Amino acid sequence: MKNLKLSAFHGNEIKRTTVTVGDVKVGEDFVVIAGPCSVESEEQTIKTAQIVKEAGANMLRGGAFKPRTSPYSFQGLGLKGLKILEKARMETGLPVVTEVTDPRDVSWVCEYADVLQIGTRNMQNFSLLQEVGKVDKPVLLKRGMYSTLEEWLNCAEYILAGGNPNVILCERGIRTFETYTRNTLDLSIVPSVKEVSHLPIIVDPSHGTGRLSIIEPMSLAAMAAGADGIIIEVHYNPDEAVCDKDQAMSPEMFTGLMGKLGRLESCMHELAGLKSAPGWAS
Ligand code: PEP
Ligand code: MN
Repeated sequence: MKNLKLSAFHGNEIKRTTVTVGDVKVGEDFVVIAGPCSVESEEQTIKTAQIVKEAGANMLRGGAFKPRTSPYSFQGLGLKGLKILEKARMETGLPVVTEVTDPRDVSWVCEYADVLQIGTRNMQNFSLLQEVGKVDKPVLLKRGMYSTLEEWLNCAEYILAGGNPNVILCERGIRTFETYTRNTLDLSIVPSVKEVSHLPIIVDPSHGTGRLSIIEPMSLAAMAAGADGIIIEVHYNPDEAVCDKDQAMSPEMFTGLMGKLGRLESCMHELAGLKSAPGWAS
């Protein structure tokens, strides 16, 4: 791998980065970010936020700017959506993770977001990366759906080089010849990132699989692989979801998943004394 001198590529030889968001420490604790694909209404967002908070999530996700394949699909509520997210944060205390798609929006979206998300389609939008490199909000950088680890870390480097050290990587699946799942969730990237980078990495099994029945096992597998957290799409009433309905977990499914993650985490802590896989020692 080239560019080993760049800071995003430093693995075990330097201290791992912890990204602090409120009282959540990404890189130390296993974090669960959950919420709707998109902010559809105040009722939908606040109800969903209360449900995920109750189940034990650490942060709320929700898109106000939705980069959609078709220009005729719902594009998000924009500023109105950000104001709803702000209200959901006030009601639940959950920090808000939301996507920014345009460099011109970065500074004002910072007034509403606790973490700025860069989506898969914008991973190599270098002017956007430079812009988020200048602000003091952590950035969740999703892996481009056609990107190698090296390309991804170079994009993280744009943000770090701009002066923002708080980058969280997010594996969300890559395009392969497989069509059964929406994407191919590359969990091997988790220990690979741990080998070559100090940055925390979380996993998005919702977009990574696009199939409800597969999200839970892949969430547990992400934890077992040493990920620092997961980001999951949840809707208080999935049948009504405007966006990514087929992968929206119901409150019951999400609560069930949280219980299993808790049990797996306890097993992993016990095993940490015996095994030394990346992410297992704590
Ligand atoms: C999202 O998380 O809302 C999203 C659009 O994901 P991705 O960029 O990974 O497709
Ligand atoms: Mn989605």
